[in-house]
Amino acid sequence: AHLDRIRAVDGDVNAFLVVDDDGALAAAEAVDLDIANGEPRSALAGVPLALKDVVVTRGLQTTSGSKILEGWIPPYDATITRKMREAGIVILGKTNMDEFAMGSSTENSAFGASHNPWALDRTPGGSSGGSSAAVAAFEAPISIGTDTGGSIRQPAAVTGIVGHKPTYGGVSRYGLIAFSSSLDQAGPFGRTVLDTALLHEVIGGYDHCDSTSLNVPVPPVVAAAREGAHGDLAGLTVGVVKELGGDGYEPGVEAAAKTAYAKLEEMGAKVVEVSCPHFGYALAAYYLIAPSEASSNLARFDAVRYGLRVGDDGVRDLEEVMSLTREAGFGPEVKRRIMIGTYALSSGYYDAYYGQAQKVRTLIGRDFAAAFETCDVLVSPPTPTTAFKLGERVDDPMAMYAADLCTLPASLAGLPAISVPVGLATAPGTTENLPVGLQIMAPALADDRCYRVAAAVE
Ligand code: GLN
Repeated sequence: AHLDRIRAVDGDVNAFLVVDDDGALAAAEAVDLDIANGEPRSALAGVPLALKDVVVTRGLQTTSGSKILEGWIPPYDATITRKMREAGIVILGKTNMDEFAMGSSTENSAFGASHNPWALDRTPGGSSGGSSAAVAAFEAPISIGTDTGGSIRQPAAVTGIVGHKPTYGGVSRYGLIAFSSSLDQAGPFGRTVLDTALLHEVIGGYDHCDSTSLNVPVPPVVAAAREGAHGDLAGLTVGVVKELGGDGYEPGVEAAAKTAYAKLEEMGAKVVEVSCPHFGYALAAYYLIAPSEASSNLARFDAVRYGLRVGDDGVRDLEEVMSLTREAGFGPEVKRRIMIGTYALSSGYYDAYYGQAQKVRTLIGRDFAAAFETCDVLVSPPTPTTAFKLGERVDDPMAMYAADLCTLPASLAGLPAISVPVGLATAPGTTENLPVGLQIMAPALADDRCYRVAAAVE
């Protein structure tokens, strides 16, 4: 049924880069057999899923949205891919994304933008916009995204679905094509908080193949989602982050957030305002740290190891092959970030840029620690606006980066956060009603708290 749905709507939505009909049907048949034998493998056995193309899949093309990897067939599965297969989840195909996960709209994909199912002329967010669009368009009930600075939470918010960025180290990064290794985390999307929690429990947990993986139990997010659904938040203190809201935020986004805060109070939570004075520097720090790490990670695309190679004939030397390949294979945003990152890491500038950004990162972590002395969770809008129009921000990188204002602090501090839908808002200057989310942030490894609150407000 989902393959039929993809055939019917994906011409308009463009959520998928590759649909794996044969693989999906074979996986579904294997699950049928288990069930006939009375041994379903997990609660999600047989449930179809859309997988962001930054996650490697054995035998199935993986491009990370880039021409430089077009046609690359990985020889192995990412740990999360393996875990999902073992749980009997049926992988329908690979979803569109901004090239190497750099962007907030999918417009940086080398394979064309995805479209928001609520309004096809608008973005489904990014960089995991194919995965958010697939779930919002009923092409898949659940999907996987990755979030480096907001790429799960912002797409979830603007497509009206649930998205969870786990605690850094909570989900294995083995087999994720690296963008910014100290920030990247894979996480689940779903149409409900409980669906999202069930998927997180499949992908989460320790992996010896990832040196930053935390060797601790997966937070009990399914139990928390079930508990939260009772709508009783007595005893919980919720901090509204003063710095994330106000000027520059769409009125409808602010109004929906305020309604959500009132709802939390009705359910027994104590809602207070907290100040996190360094959050205003998160954007500047992130856009030094992420490009710096990217400039190093993307050095592996050297025309020798993977994918595209340009200039086999008549070139002088290896350096020329590399330079021609990287010129043809990378898009403009990727090149911009490689240049920024290389500059920020160069000797003489390192202390002023990368080093300074790391200090700001520490201060943001301390703001969180101070706020969590009095609050159990912090809340804010996930992004300042409803889904913007495709094309509107493509020539203005700073406007594009502003989509991440609210999501970057938790990314820099490695903390868990969820975006949950809380209603619709009318986009300014239109009569279009578009989805709005609420972001819920918690201390490291308290992902279950995000789920409890999200289930209460959903
Ligand atoms: N929009 C941010 C960026 O362009 C975040 C992307 C992400 O989380 N992958 O870097």
